[in-house]
This record gives sequence, structure tokens and C-alpha cells, in this order.
Amino acid sequence: MQKRPLLGLTLAELQNVVKNLGMPGFSAKQIASWLYDKKVISIDDMSNLSLKHRGLLKEIYEVGAEAPMDAMRSVDGTVKYLYRTGEGHFVEAVYIPEEDRATLCVSSQVGCKMNCKFCMTGKQGFAANLTSHQIINQISSLPEREKLTNVVMMGMGEPLDNLDEVLKALEVMTASYGYGWSPKRITLSSVGLRKGLKRFIEESDCHLAISLHSPVPLQRRDLMPAEKAFSITEIVELLRNYDFSKQRRLSFEYIVFKGVNDSLTYAKELLKLLRGVDCRINLIRFHAIPDVDLEGADMETMTAFRDYLTSHGLFTTIRSSRGEDIFAACGMLSTAKQEENKGKLI
Ligand code: SF4
Repeated sequence: MQKRPLLGLTLAELQNVVKNLGMPGFSAKQIASWLYDKKVISIDDMSNLSLKHRGLLKEIYEVGAEAPMDAMRSVDGTVKYLYRTGEGHFVEAVYIPEEDRATLCVSSQVGCKMNCKFCMTGKQGFAANLTSHQIINQISSLPEREKLTNVVMMGMGEPLDNLDEVLKALEVMTASYGYGWSPKRITLSSVGLRKGLKRFIEESDCHLAISLHSPVPLQRRDLMPAEKAFSITEIVELLRNYDFSKQRRLSFEYIVFKGVNDSLTYAKELLKLLRGVDCRINLIRFHAIPDVDLEGADMETMTAFRDYLTSHGLFTTIRSSRGEDIFAACGMLSTAKQEENKGKLI
């Protein structure tokens, strides 16, 4: 029988596990501590559980820690890890070390349904939602996990399209029984889905980044089909109902495409759209991907764009680009090839 993973379970779920096995209620917290604090990889190591209870657990469960099956290292120190998440399914997670922090870009789905024009994951199509276990395992089994300071849910997939499992994983990351991280260390990035955005804002305190990419609905629709279902103007109107002026940060991601959305006309439209919203904008350089007729704007144009927005009161940064040489930068994650070649990899 295929054993079920304990890793990724919330405390409430662990309480159910111990109850169903006839174990005392306090064992749930003990198991959480072994999983998320001591990070054991075997139930045998849970030494404050009786042998009998470890035996009962092992009949149905395993820890479920699964090391990445491959890694690619960039010249800039970024490392792209490949995790197997099921029969023929793979996801990537990207470790990005910087001087004062180390961030992991985590995936939430195998592929993605959103089909953004500029994204390789979108071209791959959708294969499966990740479970909370598969999301947490990207962190727990990361070779550099003790160095991690931040997590961004910006890898493969649209997190709001898999919100139940993503919220469970975020709970494990932030709860005192889990990793106990401040929600300020975690950012969820989304195209903005009608179903999910409100729930995420109300049920989580993590930072939010909205993929904006164009303030003009018709153009945004061409870049991001999700615009048809929930337009950027509706997204911004919804966000206006919440207070982002305190601990929680709201940012907008804006890939600057040459000759498409890089003129000051667009900067002016952005100012109009976001007037009165407490937020920042991150400008992102576009990384060319096969079969897509888009080019990235040059640095001079991006700097002028940034300076215009900043001088009009909208805090704007140019995000540094990492891991381009190993296809680990924004919009470049895809495991389609691995799926094709699964027989060779496993
Ligand atoms: S950019 Fe994000 S939402 Fe869009 S296709 Fe890629 S993974 Fe999906």
C-alpha cells in the first residue's frame, strides 16, 4: 500500500491522524515538532512517541521527504532544483542567494492553466495541482533550507488556482507548530483570480504581488488571458477595500516589453490605475523564450520608466534578474521536457 505523507499536514490534520490511530491528542504537536522543527526524515526518529505508536503510524504513513532529483547551478549562484511530484510529473523550485537574504521561488502546480503569452510554464499547459506536502517538500528537502530567509510563491502555476493546498502550506510555514516564519517573509504572486483573491487576502497575512504587465485591459488580455475573467480594474477595485499600509505589502509586477508597454503613456496609465493604492511596482526584465515574438526593453528605457513613476509618487524598483543562463528566471520555468523524457530521468 502506498504510504501517505505526514509532511505538509496542518496541526488540525495531524490531530485527526492521531485520533484515528487511537494515539493521545498531544502526539499531534510532537509529530509536528519532528516534522517542522527537527526535520526528521523517518518516523523511527520520532523518539518521544512510543514504539507501539510509531509502529501504528508507519503502517499508514511516512514522513514523505523527497530530495530533488536534479539541480542546475547558474554562474550567479542561483540553483534550479527539479522535484518529482508524481508519475511523470515534475516541478522546479529556484534558490536565489543574495548578500543579505536567500529566497526560494516555490511552485504550486505542475504546469499552469493561465497561458500567459510570455511564460514557458503557461506553454506547457496544466497537468496537476500540488498538494501541501509537495509544496512544503520543496522547502523541507532543499539542500540550503537552513539558509532560507524568504519564500515567494512565484514558481510554476497560479497559486490562487490551488488555494486550499496553498493555504495549508502557508499555514505550515507561518504557524508556531510549523516553521514559525513571519508572514512578512512570504510573498504570493498571482494574476488575480476572481475566485480566490479575496479569500487569500482575508485568510492569510502574507505579502501579495499581482502580475499586472499592462494597465490597458485590451493589451493585458492579449498578454494574459486571465484578464477576460477578472479585469485589472476590478482587481484594483477589490484591493482598495483592504489596508496594505501596515505590515503587509502589496506590489505589482510589470514585465517591460520593448515597444509594447514601455512608453511613458503606459506609465501614466499605471499612475491613473493605482492612484490612492498603497503599493509598489517591480519592473522585471523580459527573458526571451522560444516561439514568442516579444522582446525585453533596454535598461535605459526601464530606468526612465522607473524614474517617471517614482517622481510621481509610485515607489518603483527594477528587479534584478537571476538564473537566466539556467532558464530559472521569471517566466522561464518549464518541466515539459522532463515529462517527455521521464524514462531517462527517473
Ligand atoms: S506567468 Fe504565472 S500564471 Fe502566467 S502562465 Fe506563467 S505560471 Fe501561469
